[in-house]
Amino acid sequence: MTTVAVYVRVSSEKQADDDRTSLSDQQRHCEGFADKQGWHAPTVHSDTFSGYDSLDARVGLRRALDTITQGAVLLVWRFDRLSRDMVDMALIAREVHRKGARIVSVSEGELTNSPMGRLLGSLHTFAAESEREGITARTHGALRTRAEQGKLLVGPSNKYGYSYDGARKEWYVANPETAPVVQRMYALAEQGYTLYDIAKTLNDEGILTRSGYLRSKGLPSGNKGTATVWTRQSVYEVLTDRTYCGRHAAYNKQQVKVGNHKVMRPRPEDDGKRIAQPNVPALVSAETWDTVRAKLQSHMLGQVRTDEYRIAPLLTRGFGICGHCGARVTITKHDKGWYRYHCPNGGNRAVDPAKKCPGGSWAARVSLVDADIWGKVEEMAGDLARFKRMVQAPVQTAEDRVKAVERRQELLQAELAAAYREKDNLARRYGAEDDEDLAAVIHGRLKEVLATIAELEKRTSKAVFDIDRITAYLKTVDGACRKFAQFGAETFTREDRRTILKALNVRVRMYASASDYAQTHNGERWVLQLVPVGENSTPPGTFSLGGAMEGLRDHSENLHGPTASPRPHLP
Ligand SMILES: [Zn+2]
Repeated sequence: MTTVAVYVRVSSEKQADDDRTSLSDQQRHCEGFADKQGWHAPTVHSDTFSGYDSLDARVGLRRALDTITQGAVLLVWRFDRLSRDMVDMALIAREVHRKGARIVSVSEGELTNSPMGRLLGSLHTFAAESEREGITARTHGALRTRAEQGKLLVGPSNKYGYSYDGARKEWYVANPETAPVVQRMYALAEQGYTLYDIAKTLNDEGILTRSGYLRSKGLPSGNKGTATVWTRQSVYEVLTDRTYCGRHAAYNKQQVKVGNHKVMRPRPEDDGKRIAQPNVPALVSAETWDTVRAKLQSHMLGQVRTDEYRIAPLLTRGFGICGHCGARVTITKHDKGWYRYHCPNGGNRAVDPAKKCPGGSWAARVSLVDADIWGKVEEMAGDLARFKRMVQAPVQTAEDRVKAVERRQELLQAELAAAYREKDNLARRYGAEDDEDLAAVIHGRLKEVLATIAELEKRTSKAVFDIDRITAYLKTVDGACRKFAQFGAETFTREDRRTILKALNVRVRMYASASDYAQTHNGERWVLQLVPVGENSTPPGTFSLGGAMEGLRDHSENLHGPTASPRPHLP
């Protein structure tokens, strides 16, 4: 049989007389409801107190709660009869629920199923969470204390180069197997080896990676799997880790929100939350660490030398041209990893439909084109005497052009001086002239002279600009010739190669495989040209040379078409 305690309450004497919510009314509703549920002989408890009185002051409620036992029901007309205060409500609900009893309202039903019940439920969750945070804080307190005592905060595995020591892994000692590897990496970096060089050296010698080493010892190696080779990234991580110069710190990272993700980033040096741990031995000196750091920051460890040509195609920025529409080729990466030249207006790429490339959507493998083209250029340049002959004519033309521009510049300056003199003269006369008609004529002439001066100044500055460009070109050619003579083409970096291409004013026209060009040239799809540059063409790089490259015409004849074995016609 269900024990039922009915609780009725009014918050004032006035309300007690009010029919609608009077004590007797509430009681009648509750008893009727209990009867329908088959709950018999309910006990009734009442209070006549304000809803804001403390729970202890409500004797009736206290008695009602005291009668509640396992399986019992606390029945009210409405939940707000128990309390209008959420905290009090939560306390009452907790007491009732802990006894294994229920709270039911005649108007609102079972408490746990009502909106009020759900709200209380979330309050409980909130309380539980607060408690958990308390636990977290206490745990972190303990970890901090451990760190402040100079003991390590132990992770699943030790840092590369060290082993845990002490009864409870309180400190590190240098690991005799891995510490020398760390020291060697710093030594190589100090000598100026690149990150790539260092990674390659370690890989060539079969030295296990950080995770590979842990795995070989049967230790957990992190959740990212085991690295099979050293990479620039992993070398970089070792070379930038302060722990190796004895500056280990607990809490040296902090959680940072990046977009929707939380990531760990180094904590600022001056952040008071870092705890220095001087008991971790240094594997390299602070001086070495700082030297390597400086080299890394100033990029003195150089760039990666491998993959350079794959990643950075030779013929971008104007050397490669679409044979169909004349646009500068751009590159994209193929799904399978290689790079391709293609026309920026090919397929549906053109923003302006009028510019759509007539060649369609063609693409050429960067590695094939670059290797072929550079092979030819090297062949030309490899014969140094010939190369010099090749650039001699354009160099001579360029030098002549500089002289011509300089002469023109002198003439311009003379003209400009004359114009200034006339301007001063006119201005004087204008000021002294009393006849208004005559003054108007002088004024008109003055305006003309001022326009002439503006025009002359523009041409003068353009001449200076031309001289600068041609001088830069001559310097480029000179540098390329010297480098060839001194080192040969094998030592050339991509930029050196581009300098040579620029000196020769190379263009590579590329065609679609189905194009007329390819059909009539044994399926070849690109052609090297040494272009005589006109005033209105835009050469690669930054300079333009009107007619300076004329001399190359003769030599360019035999460079057309491929030297590689001819490919079959394509359908
Ligand atoms: Zn095109």
